[in-house]
Amino acid sequence: MATITLRPGRERPVIQRHPWVFSGAIDAVHGEPADGEVVDILAPTGDWLARGLWSSTSQIRARLCAWDPNQVLDEEWLRERIARAVSGRAGLANGEDGACRLVFSEADGLPGLIVDRYGVYLVIQILTQGMEARRAEVLRALVDLLAPRSIFERSDNDMREKEGMPPGDGLLWGVEPPDQIALLPAIAVGTSVVPPRLLANLRTGQKTGFYLDQSHNRVRVAAYCQGAHVLDCFAYSGGFSAYAARAGAASLTLIDTSLPALDLARQNLAVNDITTSADYVEGNVFKVLRGYRAEGRRFDVIILDPPKFANTQAQVNHAARGYKDINWLAMQLLNPGGVLATFSCSGQISPDLFQKIVFGASVDAGRDVQIIERLGQSPDHPILLTFPESEYLKGFVCRVW
Ligand code: SAH
Repeated sequence: MATITLRPGRERPVIQRHPWVFSGAIDAVHGEPADGEVVDILAPTGDWLARGLWSSTSQIRARLCAWDPNQVLDEEWLRERIARAVSGRAGLANGEDGACRLVFSEADGLPGLIVDRYGVYLVIQILTQGMEARRAEVLRALVDLLAPRSIFERSDNDMREKEGMPPGDGLLWGVEPPDQIALLPAIAVGTSVVPPRLLANLRTGQKTGFYLDQSHNRVRVAAYCQGAHVLDCFAYSGGFSAYAARAGAASLTLIDTSLPALDLARQNLAVNDITTSADYVEGNVFKVLRGYRAEGRRFDVIILDPPKFANTQAQVNHAARGYKDINWLAMQLLNPGGVLATFSCSGQISPDLFQKIVFGASVDAGRDVQIIERLGQSPDHPILLTFPESEYLKGFVCRVW
């Protein structure tokens, strides 16, 4: 087996079980590991530290999977890891139509593998050389453990490109999934709302078809929506709006730049027999909110769930200005005592920084703003303590006076 010796002073994160070894931390590679092959990581002293999977093309040269020298990274290991990840979701309402993330990459000890369950269909992403090399093993394990009707790949092709791999999309196993499926986003057992059934297109929808990471937050935010005029910004397929309507919202206004997204949102309200008055606005939130301010429009609840504004550290300042702008606008559009549910899914923006941004917006808006709930990604997207990068979604529910 090839071994990797670290540079002096670079062993600490590995000892603390951070799963990434960057090219800059490597002193020497002994042997010629093929992409995806198992490598051992050694301290400068030669002491064994960890075992991982090699990628010659990525800046992250090795993704670590084991800190026990007796742990072999074979098919049995992969199967056990997947089974462990699945068992960790047992507390989520996961009936026939249940939708939930079953495997969340490094956070589940399986770097580069995402598995989302949409009822009887699985949608997966294979994002690293290590998982690419184990594609057949992954499929076997998923078929044996979960007996899905199909396994469809929707890999994030930018991430595959960084690993020097061609795009990955298409049916891997079973029958073609239907164009559209109705799903029940998984929420913790015992939650009182009757969840709406939401439509998703697994083949062409955003991400793997649906934003599963907001499943719990839609329930939390709905709690403030009874009798409220709700503005759902960056609405996509209307997940927040459908829950708000179920909770008794007086009216819904959904904004998105994507017309297909708004069409899907309209269908989502219709299939759930929601008759709440709803306005679908195709437009840019930054502009539409300025227009509403000029018209003097007001709302009781505003949801801000924008796409990732920062992909790299270099984009953080620009992203922060964007977050501040929409939060500042939204605060001005709220009736006194109104509720702002504001999110950021940029991993580069820490919860602290996000709070500072919302603070800045409140000062400039001249409104008293209280955080009444702190929100994060749903429990099917666990945050591994040794891998803080697995925390990416954060949100505040704020009372705006
Ligand atoms: N809230 C959604 C997920 C939002 S994803 C849910 O609960 O499922 C982000 C959405 O923002 C995408 O649908 C994208 O089309 C839309 N979008 C991106 N930039 C936008 C902008 N400037 N104005 C309005 N919508 C935008």
